[in-house]
Formats: sequence, C-alpha cells, structure tokens
Amino acid sequence: MDLIKKVKRRERLTQKEAEALYELDLFTLGELADEIRQERFGKKSYFNINRHINPTNICADVCKFCAYSASRKNPHQYTMSHEEILEIATTAYNNGAKEVHIVSAHNPNSGIEWYMGAFKKIKDKLPSIHIKAMTAAEVDFLSRQYGLSYDEVLDRMIESGVDSMPGGGAEIFDEKVREYLCKGKVGSTEWLEIHQKWHERGKESNATMLFGHIESRANRIDHILRLRELQDRTGGFNAFIPLVYQKDNNFLKVQQYLTGQEILKTYAISRILLDNISHIKAYWATASINLALIAQEFGADDLDGTIEKESIQSAAGAESRNGIDMNEFINLIKNSGFIPVERDSLYNEVRYWKM
Ligand code: SF4
Repeated sequence: MDLIKKVKRRERLTQKEAEALYELDLFTLGELADEIRQERFGKKSYFNINRHINPTNICADVCKFCAYSASRKNPHQYTMSHEEILEIATTAYNNGAKEVHIVSAHNPNSGIEWYMGAFKKIKDKLPSIHIKAMTAAEVDFLSRQYGLSYDEVLDRMIESGVDSMPGGGAEIFDEKVREYLCKGKVGSTEWLEIHQKWHERGKESNATMLFGHIESRANRIDHILRLRELQDRTGGFNAFIPLVYQKDNNFLKVQQYLTGQEILKTYAISRILLDNISHIKAYWATASINLALIAQEFGADDLDGTIEKESIQSAAGAESRNGIDMNEFINLIKNSGFIPVERDSLYNEVRYWKM
C-alpha cells in the first residue's frame, strides 16, 4: 500500500493521507510507529521526578470540558499564598523533585505580581529546580487582563525564573470546535504565536492536544500538522502530549468515549506525523497507567513523571490525584519490557535502570 511505503520512506503525509492512517489496523499502525520510536530511542522510556502545583482554581473563563475551575460545579475556591507554594516546592525538592510544573486557572483577582512573585520566590530559594510554568492560555489571559503585550508577559516570566512552558491550553485548534469548547480562551493562532515568541527567546516548550470529546479525526490531524508547521520554523517544542479527555464533573455532554484502540492509534499517528518533535508523551494521568505502558509500543517514548499531586485532570476523573511512587513507576516500565530513563525537563538523561 502506497501510504505504508510512504511512511516507511519517512516521507511527510498530507492532511488527507494522515486521516487515512486511522483506517489501518491497529497493529500495522503500531508497528510503523514503533519502528520510528526504536530508531530514535531503542527501548528507552523517559520520565522525570516532578511535582505539579495548581495554585488557584478561580477562573475568569468557562471551558465546557473543565472540572477544575471553581466558578463551575466546584464550590471550593482556593488561592494559595506564596508561602504555601514555596513550601510545596521546597518539600518536593527535598524529596528529589527536579521540576515544578505550575499551572493555574485564570484568576482575575490575584494580580500579575502574584503569578510572577511565586516563580521568583521559588527560583531565589531553589535555584537548581526547573520551573515549568504558564500555559499559553495563562499568558494570553494575563496579557488581556493587565494590558500587556505577549512579549512583555513572556519577558516577565523569564525575569521571574520560568525555565520552560507547559503545553496546556491548546485543546483542539479547529476554530469551530474551539469556539464551542472554550470560547473566550486563547485562540489557536494566538496559542501558536505565544509559543513561537517563547521559542524565539531560545526557550523550549511542550505542545498538547485534548482529544476524545467532540472533535473529529480530521480535527486531530489538522491540530498535529499545525504544530509540525510551527516546529519547522522554530524547533522549540521538545514533546507532544496527546491528552485524553476526562469525562466527570463537566458541562460537555459527551456520550461516546474513546476506545483504547482509538487512543493508541492517535499516539501512533502523532509519532508518524511529528518527524520534527522528538518526544511523544503518553501522559499517564489522562491515559491511565496501563494504557500509557502499552503506548510505549505505539510510538510513545515518555510517560511524564511521578507528579506527586495533581488537581486538574483528577477533578475530571483521572487517577492522578496523588501521583505515583517512583519505585513502582520504574518497576512498571521495566516489567513492560522498556528501560526506565530519568530525564531532566529538557530531556537530558540523568540516570537509567538496567533491565
Ligand atoms: S480549562 Fe483552565 S481556563 Fe478553562 S475554565 Fe478550566 S481552569 Fe479556566
């Protein structure tokens, strides 16, 4: 079949050709993606020791898929003080975390200083910890809320100690689906523009895609190809993370959930299409640890990290509230036939465990 030959010759696929990949049977697709994964990483599977911090759930936006924001179904509002954030980061650091992953809701009451001050305090006290913080949606929110340009917000982040950006807020780029899902939040063009500007500052970021809700396969392919196009220009994405939609406690009435097959196919297709983004992450917090382990054979080479605590996905039903123990994580990777490799936030290898 021409399509398979094209993938094997490592030629780029068009939107239509990429959509046709979904028609291949799961094992053919898995084999094609695994070949690329093995060429690049052999049997290595990456993870890091990190701590997620979600400092506030008060949000000016109303995304239909969100179960985290306090302005929706969740009556329990909270905003952490800098001292609380610093204490969490310090405890995590003392327990071996090398990264804090900080993502907040769009709190209109806290002021930009609250956001930036938290990063600065962490960096002053723990200079070696990597701060991954501020999605493009947060950057866009702060820019609109405080009348700053994207450049000004991004420069403030760097001055305050942010090292890299997470990939959240991308959801699905298709404008029609996006309008229904999260009208009012950062637009697709602006999401891409913010990451471009971040990359132009010599900084790296992740990219995500939220799938399994109301989007079509064509919407997913379009999303991935828009990322491929930006990556050709900047080279600043270090990982792509397909996030599986979580169904609980939100206002998006999705009747049909994705099958495991469809999720694995999406990982495999991401690996095949994104020849210019090094790592494909099966984020176990949304895929479940079992499916993430299988995804290692369908193109994924990264399983994220130990997380420790997580509030956003777990509010919508994911089993990530308390993270995962590092030794258990390592054993799971080993027992699935892969080599666990601890990495830092920029994918430098820190240590690995023999099989
Ligand atoms: S997804 Fe983020 S921006 Fe949207 S409502 Fe939830 S917390 Fe707010």
